[in-house]
Amino acid sequence: MKILVINSGSSSIKYQLIEMPSEAVIAKGLIERIGSKEAKISYQKSDFKTHKVLEIRDHQTGLMQINQLLMDDEIGVITNKDDIEVVGHRVVHGGKSFSETAVVTPQVKEAIKNLSALAPLHNPHNLKGIEVAEKVFTKAQQVAVFDTAFFQSLPQKAYQYAIPKHLMEEQDIRAYGFHGTSHKYVSEKAKTHLKSQNQSASKLITIHLGNGCSMTALKDGLAIDHSLGFGPANGLIMGTRAGDIDQSVIFYLINQLGYSPDEVNELLLKESGMLGLTGHNDMRDIQKKAEEGDKNCQIALDMNAYRIKKYIGAYAAALNGLDAIVFTAGIGENSALLRDIVCKDMDVLGLELDTDKNAKRTNHVNEVSSAHSKAKILVIPTNEELEIAKQAFEIASR
Ligand code: AMP
Repeated sequence: MKILVINSGSSSIKYQLIEMPSEAVIAKGLIERIGSKEAKISYQKSDFKTHKVLEIRDHQTGLMQINQLLMDDEIGVITNKDDIEVVGHRVVHGGKSFSETAVVTPQVKEAIKNLSALAPLHNPHNLKGIEVAEKVFTKAQQVAVFDTAFFQSLPQKAYQYAIPKHLMEEQDIRAYGFHGTSHKYVSEKAKTHLKSQNQSASKLITIHLGNGCSMTALKDGLAIDHSLGFGPANGLIMGTRAGDIDQSVIFYLINQLGYSPDEVNELLLKESGMLGLTGHNDMRDIQKKAEEGDKNCQIALDMNAYRIKKYIGAYAAALNGLDAIVFTAGIGENSALLRDIVCKDMDVLGLELDTDKNAKRTNHVNEVSSAHSKAKILVIPTNEELEIAKQAFEIASR
């Protein structure tokens, strides 16, 4: 079964055509700058890569361009668009309505639209992706895979905020969680790996460090706590987001320094985090500068690692033990330096890194803990598109 996975953003569409159940990636690519005269569409099948720059007015034109590339006489991979039986869509917010993947119906679309208030930067664009896919791939089944669904297992004590209860009951103000497809994918990979070595996989912490960063505590495969909350702002220090911060700062900015609420929001989401601390939001630049002796970059790395360390401690307490921690996503997979700082002096939790193993980059599950480490330290490349394809395949095969 050929499944087209679509991640539709405000001006971009990421796509992958995946054969299931073999999990083979047939083709993939990205459209950027939709709405501009100089949009860019890239396309890759096995070793062959190409891209073109052209005007792409809207998402529907973009998806039609993707379809043309997939069906191209010379470089295409399908002869008929109806070969695509399922289109799997990433949808960021499923609120409390969706605890699992759903086949798209008019009611599902209405619910995604109604949840836009909770994810204004994502849900409207995810819905747009669904609507245009329905027009372009008329015969395919459309499936929505929600980032938040994986966190429906959080217990109330973890997802409720200590504010007046009616705000949760009447206005749905509570923690939902994000990056669910990634946490699910790597936690399952970790479980398979640990079981193959007769190790326990009951108490896991997954650490997703990309442009956005989050951590999940998992007990027997189910999420029991998570660092992102009502929106994608809480918890770890991210590329441009502050993560945890005392709300008094927000009111000081507004009441004493004259910031508007929108300006504070912009400040905390787009101008803070590693960017605010160093002037750079790419970890590669920050590491390089730190190596060259830049003190701001060094303290930013230390702060970043310290926040992760504290969450590991908190989650180990919540789990009453620890079998493994898992690093994933752009920074988690690639930054041996950050992993090294995070895992230093963590013997209290039975964590000990093997520096040589940690320095090596692999494309599969990489165990980077030392032989003495009681809990394992794993580096696992995430694959959100494959996870979406797996879930879409499962629901389409029912
Ligand atoms: P993601 O959102 O998972 O694509 O992660 C993107 C981030 O990963 C980038 O902004 C970089 O900060 C980081 N990154 C990518 N490659 C490396 C690398 N080789 N070393 C350190 N950080 C990296």
